[in-house]
Parts: sequence; structure tokens; C-alpha cells
Amino acid sequence: MFALTVSRVRRTAWFLATCIFLLLSGCSEAKVPTALERVQKDGVLRVITRNSPATYFQDRNGDTGFEYELAKRFADHLGVKLEIETADNLDDLYDKLSQPDGPSLAAAGLTPGGARDAQVRFTHSYLDVTPQVVYRNGDPRPTRPEDLVGKRIMVLKGSSHAAQLAELKKRYPKLQYQESDADEMVDLLGKVDVGEIDLTLIDSNELAMNQVYFPNVRVAFDLGDARGLAWALPLGSDNSLFDEVNKFLDKTKQDGTLQNLKDRYYGHVDVLGYVGAYTFAQHLQQRLPRYEQHFRQSAQNLQMDWRLLAAIGYQESMWQPDATSKTGVRGLMMLTNRTAQAMGVSNRLDAKQSIQGGSKYFGQVKDELPGSIKEPDRTWFALASYNIGSAHLDDARKLAEQEGLNPNKWLDVKKMLPRLSQKQWYRKTRNGYARGGETVHFVQNIRRYYDILTWVTQPQMEGGQLAESGLHLPGVNKTRPPENPDEKL
Ligand code: GLU
Repeated sequence: MFALTVSRVRRTAWFLATCIFLLLSGCSEAKVPTALERVQKDGVLRVITRNSPATYFQDRNGDTGFEYELAKRFADHLGVKLEIETADNLDDLYDKLSQPDGPSLAAAGLTPGGARDAQVRFTHSYLDVTPQVVYRNGDPRPTRPEDLVGKRIMVLKGSSHAAQLAELKKRYPKLQYQESDADEMVDLLGKVDVGEIDLTLIDSNELAMNQVYFPNVRVAFDLGDARGLAWALPLGSDNSLFDEVNKFLDKTKQDGTLQNLKDRYYGHVDVLGYVGAYTFAQHLQQRLPRYEQHFRQSAQNLQMDWRLLAAIGYQESMWQPDATSKTGVRGLMMLTNRTAQAMGVSNRLDAKQSIQGGSKYFGQVKDELPGSIKEPDRTWFALASYNIGSAHLDDARKLAEQEGLNPNKWLDVKKMLPRLSQKQWYRKTRNGYARGGETVHFVQNIRRYYDILTWVTQPQMEGGQLAESGLHLPGVNKTRPPENPDEKL
């Protein structure tokens, strides 16, 4: 009986000990939070990126850029704050990402493939881009990979482009190239622009964003097919955050968020072409400084961004106060007589008055838009309305609704505007024919000018007013005209 009790007690003790051990080990396993839980617990998503116009930069309103905005939306989706870190170069970015206390992910216009696939995990892709070889206008244009042999080529160290060249070198052993870890893509484009190197390789999206600063840089040829950019996460067996990112990226594709971002950042690029880019850069330096103060003043009164008003002014008259059109609109902001009177402008050819009047009118047009149109679309709608009039814009919004599109989204209404000049459509509208296609161009152009102004006036580039700073655009000070002015992208 006693023996039985002892053995029972022993067994019970053993059983309890095992349970406690299992519980504890279970507990300690449960205590190691997943990558996703860690982010949620910290309340912060740490993202590493590159400082460039196509990824992340700062303007007066704070952080901006395609990658930044996408990452911000992901942080919002998780309900946490976004913390951005910038890498010095691509190698640095991959190294930092692999550190135990490194960032959660990299969002930096990265191309998966090659050795990198062994170093990090790439998510689903969110943007298709084509690697392009660029050269300087006036030099012989390379057209095929073998033309790269004998050229001075520089690419970003550790980039997908360096990997492409390494592959090519197997076929063309005489091919030489340098990898730079001290430059960003803008620097390499600058080197091509001034003839310091012959060629570089760049993703099509980055070139599109940067083209305007380097009017002499031209596309030689596409080096390979389009490839999808992706975010990168550290290697490991913990899929929690990785899966969540993929779910998020898939969702942004389905619900139009991604298209919206693409439209905002890339939908309006290339509208300038080489000649336009060159001219704009010149005018930025020579004309804008004379009127910048007026734009700033008007913007302050209306609580708007002065660069948007300046962009409108450039679209209207290329910042020329004595501009005149056949239709009787005049001045820097190209006001009609009626608008000028309504805005209290006594002399349309007076730059200050024109800017004040045009800005005030733009402000009114914007205020009159329905409250259902939210920013940033609201700004694009205001530009469209300023150009085509609110009645026609209403027609286009109604057409959008009839097509099952969203009348509050610029991306949708933009598709409808050209229909206002097609009889089969405009005969059904209330206000009839209008040159809606032109309005789309008008908005696109202004957005492009606005982007450029935003980039060149970001705090780290701006040393005061543009007028004082002598402008900080690479390549702009060189007054060499484009050698082939008719050539278009
Ligand atoms: N996508 C490139 C890469 O992953 C970087 C961007 C560029 O160089 O244009 O290496």
C-alpha cells in the first residue's frame, strides 16, 4: 500500500515536473515574438531606402517619394509608425538589412535576382521597369550589347546592373566597367551628362524621374526585358512579416492604390521630352528667380504650395509676363479680361498682379470643387477645372460615373476627359464639346513642373531662395544646347 503510494507520488511528481517543463518551454517559445508581432509591439516599422527622386526624399512638407509613400501605407495598414533609414549605397543597404537589429525591410527600387536572392528574400513585385543603357547626346549611339566594349562605363556597386555587366563580360571579355559605391544614380547621370563617363545603366523609372535634370542624357537601348521591382526582407524562417507584406502588396494592386501611386509618380513623366527638359532647366535658373517672391507671397495668402502656383505659371506662359495668346488671354498667368477684372487685376501684364490674380482664381476654383474630392486628387481636379471650367469637368465626372468609375478619382476622370471632344460622347453631356484631351496634358505638365520644383527646392538642396542659391541642378549651368533638338524619347 505504502509502496504503491510512494510510486504514485513519484509518478505524479514526475508528471507534474514534465508538465511544468513543457509549459515553460512552451511559454518560452511563445515568448519569442514573430517579426510581425515585434513590429506591432514596438509600434514602429523600420524601413531602409535610398535617397533619390524615385524612392525617397524630403520636401518642405516632409517626407515623400514613391517608395516612401508605399511604405507609409504599409505602416498605416499595420497601425504603426514608419521610421525611414537611408543607406549610403546598395551594399550598405543589403548589409544593414541582414544585421540582427537591422530594419524590417528595404524599399528602394530593388531588382531581385542573382547573388542577392541568397542574401535576402524578395516580396511580390510592385513595379515593372526596364534596365536601360544611357549615353550622352552627340556621342555615337550604342545600339547593342557588344557596343559597350571599349566604353567608359560606371554603374552602382552591388546593383542589378553590375550583375548584368558581369554576365555580359563572360560573352565579351574585353568589356570593362567600374562599380561606384560613392554615387547615386543622379551622380552617374551627371557624369554621363558632362562626358566624365560614356555610359551608365539605369532602371527606366529612375531615368524618367531624372531626365529633366540631364537634358543631354539619352537612352541608347534597353538591356534586357522589363523586370519587377520588389521589397526585400531579411532571410529566415519567420514568414509572418513577409506574408503580410505580400498580402498588402497584392491588395494595393487590386484596390487601385498602387496604380494611383504609379500615376502620381510616373504617370506624368516624360511629358517634357529632351528639348522641354533643357528649356525648363534654363528658365528655372533665368526666369523663375524674378517671380519666385510673388508666388511665395500669393501662396502664403492662400495657404497653398508656392511651387504649385509657379508650375501653373510656367504652363501658362513659361514665366513670361508679356505673354499673349490669339484668344486674348494675357500675362504671366494668362488671364482672360473677365477673370482679371473679377480678381481685381488692373494690369494683366504686371507680373505681380497676374500671379496674385491667377492664384486667387485658382484658389476659388479649388474651393468650389465638391467636398467628396479629397487630396491629392483635389489638386489635380482643381487644375483641370481651372483649365476647362467646372461645367465640363462635371460632365467628365458624370461620364465616369456612368462607366462605373469613381468620379472623385483623378485617374478615372482623366480617362473620360478626352471623350468630351468626341461627338458620340459629348452629345450626351450637358455642356457639350470641350477639348478635354488638352486638359489632361495641362494637368500632366503642371504636375511634372511641380515635381521638379519640389525636388530642387527640398531643404537639403535649397540654400535659401532659388534666386540666391544660383540653383543647384546638376547640368543646368552648362548652356550647351541640345545637339539634336528634334529628337524625342
Ligand atoms: N534596381 C536597381 C538595383 O536593384 C537599382 C536602381 C537603379 O540603379 O536604377 O540594383
